[in-house]
Amino acid sequence: MSVQQSTNTTVTVGAPSYLRLHASGELTRRIERAYEILKHCTLCPRYCGVNRLAGERGYCRSGAEPIIASWAAHPWEEPPISGANGSGTIFFTYCTARCLFCQNYPISQLGVGQQVTVQRLAEMMLELQGRGCHNINLVTPTHFVPQILAALPIAIEQGLRLPLVYNSSGYETIGTLRLLDGVVDIYLPDAKYADEAIARRLSGFCGYVAANRAALREMYHQVGKELLLDENGLAARGMIIRHMVLPGGLAGTRQVLAWIAHQLSPFIHISLMAQYFPAHKAVGDPILGRKITDEEYLEALAAFDALGLERGWRQEHCEAEL
Ligand code: SF4
Repeated sequence: MSVQQSTNTTVTVGAPSYLRLHASGELTRRIERAYEILKHCTLCPRYCGVNRLAGERGYCRSGAEPIIASWAAHPWEEPPISGANGSGTIFFTYCTARCLFCQNYPISQLGVGQQVTVQRLAEMMLELQGRGCHNINLVTPTHFVPQILAALPIAIEQGLRLPLVYNSSGYETIGTLRLLDGVVDIYLPDAKYADEAIARRLSGFCGYVAANRAALREMYHQVGKELLLDENGLAARGMIIRHMVLPGGLAGTRQVLAWIAHQLSPFIHISLMAQYFPAHKAVGDPILGRKITDEEYLEALAAFDALGLERGWRQEHCEAEL
């Protein structure tokens, strides 16, 4: 991601939080609770209620085992996430949404990926650590939270010491997030929309705005407003909210930013993204079928500044490249 950086807070930080939970036995209890949820799945706000352990499938089409599309060092996340060596991304297959414009739709909607065991998932975490990645970045993880939790003790016992980044659409339940309290050190959620009807039409979400805002509050409660960096400038704990500006004002950018500034904190780090391009079913759409204009992104930046938001990243945007 091409970015300009603004204020961060640098402190000395310790080991990832999950080590304490593992040592106390609480991580084992969380895993048990998480697998109980899979018997009547309410991991996300769709509340399908299917028994995924018995082979039933809900909206996300996911079952008892994790499905992984790819795992690799990723250099293009926000600077304190990617650092010099890259963020250790693990892309989970399927999703709890069906965005018309999803740039990863073969993975999120067509199911490209490979089913693996939790043992293999743990090995992937360790391989990414071995490659020098700065964190384990769980991309689209919501529907596989129990499996991620189950992989963690295996990885910890074999030396995993990287912080976990929970990189999600921000469509979460409080119950699932509470399973992650003290496990995840860095939340990287989206705040995609300000309007429920648009969220439903473009992404198939049910009740996105309400769920997203409750989720952001819970994440904030868990990790606080400060993005804590280690001595090398790498994120160790905190949250970064991502918002991608959509053409035609469809993301409700000003309202999303206003809610964050007024209801959460003006000191939250925000990644204001200009990288939208039409993909999947957005190609040829009268509104979604184009990139955003310079004016649209400048409007978003003006709203960011007018609301007193000052922490985060903005992308360089050049309409000439469109
Ligand atoms: S995680 Fe999947 S099965 Fe569970 S509630 Fe969400 S969409 Fe339904």
